[in-house]
Amino acid sequence: MRFFDPEMQETVNQRADLESELRNALEKQQLQLYYQIQVDSSHHTRGAEVLIRWIHPERGMISPVQFIPLAEETGLILPIGQWVLDTACARIKAWEKDTLTSNLTLAVNVSAKQFHQADFVNQVHETVQRHAINPMLLKLELTESMLQSDIEDTIASMHALKKIGIQFSLDDFGTGYSSLQYLKRLPLDQLKIDQSFVRDIATDSSDKAIVGTIIAMAHHLGVGVIAEGVETKEQLHSLKSSCCTHYQGYLFGKPVPIDEFEAQLKQS
Ligand code: C2E
Ligand code: MG
Ligand code: MG
Repeated sequence: MRFFDPEMQETVNQRADLESELRNALEKQQLQLYYQIQVDSSHHTRGAEVLIRWIHPERGMISPVQFIPLAEETGLILPIGQWVLDTACARIKAWEKDTLTSNLTLAVNVSAKQFHQADFVNQVHETVQRHAINPMLLKLELTESMLQSDIEDTIASMHALKKIGIQFSLDDFGTGYSSLQYLKRLPLDQLKIDQSFVRDIATDSSDKAIVGTIIAMAHHLGVGVIAEGVETKEQLHSLKSSCCTHYQGYLFGKPVPIDEFEAQLKQS
């Protein structure tokens, strides 16, 4: 006996369509980087995180939550990731000439598959050299899940990149399985507190305690700290009272295309 579920078939078809369209998205220039401002406790701009968007001619804007997993499964994340890196480095270069932007860092999300490529260190080095930028202005965001396999290789690659001057932030911190044993061996510059802890920080005493502990630990380890997903003044106030030093979230600005971001910079 066989069962046929048209809904299942539809899901399979949609995925296949999306995959073949994603293959062409790069050359058709449908991918764009959005920039989300990052500020310090005096609300001065310190840089931005670049977040990818797929502007699809029929489907409109597709969130990275939808296509990054597909890109990872199919290996398309490798050319896409390199394009993100190139675009970010070109932006850092373009910003060099203006005092308003010359010190801003750009944070780039790196996927596990991308990072674990044998020649990832060389790719980053080559990109930074080709654009002739200050490597200190490039920050790679890694996630805790990337630390679960090949940890020794990961540490070695991070050290090699650190030697060139690249910075590291540990994204979505607190949601994965970070071993504190590894944390002290990783050459991290920053922990990025996941937005799930920030969301209820003003009202939930457990979230407040967890965030306070992460910040204290970061300070003791000599690592910077940034909170993501800051949407309200109450959340900001609560984070400040826990000695958080850097912030990102809708309260300061949503991710926007480069023209809007630069206009926003000139206004502030
Ligand atoms: P992430 O790196 O943790 O990025 C933070 C996400 O939170 C972004 O979603 C951002 O738009 C959103 N966000 C920022 N501020 C707020 C806020 O105040 N409130 C709320 N509710 N959300 C906020 P986005 O842009 O949809 O990106 C989702 C994820 O996709 C990212 O999570 C990252 O893991 C991945 N991603 C984005 N761009 C890239 C990329 O270029 N390469 C790779 N490998 N992954 C990427
Ligand atoms: Mg990120
Ligand atoms: Mg995050």
